[in-house]
Amino acid sequence: MVWKGLVFLTLWLHLGVAYPLATQSFPMEGDLLAGRTVVIDPGHGGLDPGARGKQATEDRINLEVALALKTWFQHAGARVLMSWSKPSDIPRNKKFRVAQRVDWINRTHGDVLIDIHCNSGYHTYRGPQTFYWSGAGSYHLANDIQQELQYWTHTRRGVTRINQYVLRYAKMPAVNVELGFISNPKDEVALMSSGYQRDISWYIFVGTERWFLKGRWPEKRLQVPPPTHLLIRD
Ligand SMILES: [Zn+2]
Repeated sequence: MVWKGLVFLTLWLHLGVAYPLATQSFPMEGDLLAGRTVVIDPGHGGLDPGARGKQATEDRINLEVALALKTWFQHAGARVLMSWSKPSDIPRNKKFRVAQRVDWINRTHGDVLIDIHCNSGYHTYRGPQTFYWSGAGSYHLANDIQQELQYWTHTRRGVTRINQYVLRYAKMPAVNVELGFISNPKDEVALMSSGYQRDISWYIFVGTERWFLKGRWPEKRLQVPPPTHLLIRD
């Protein structure tokens, strides 16, 4: 995602370590998530490639990770719906606009929405980060996912609120996982690798599964902590 005019207050640590690869190559078979519908929305596509790195475009990375994520959820018994699942789903001369995405997302009546993007910023920025807009369900989901991603990458980006159209209008707990910074040379190489794509999808899955296993969210009983950051995205 291209960032414009944003107030970026997040603290980050540059530890200078390579991302360790996870050892989990086994699928989690079972029915822990039976009866749950997971909606995955890989950002951009078609005429809109999203952010660009030196070699990669964001839309293809988003799609690869979304497809890997879909597989983990299916192994756990969930029903998975994707806004698009192959490049040809979006005509090359068209954009899949956010209003259309939200219409489709809300027609699914899914239990959760996971939007997938790659971040872009100063070349020193690195690491994944999870965003939400409002609601206790979204807030806790974002934290459960981001904790897994911090654990895996040894980075310390925190969960942040973001005013993003899809998150604002989705009628279900919704998060946007920014997989890493395509503008950072090391992150870009990692984002393009099938190992990183597989591993980050695993940790997004684990965070989401943790959140599901805590039970259905009694939204009104949970107190939403005040936002510590607010980004405006156009
Ligand atoms: Zn994006």
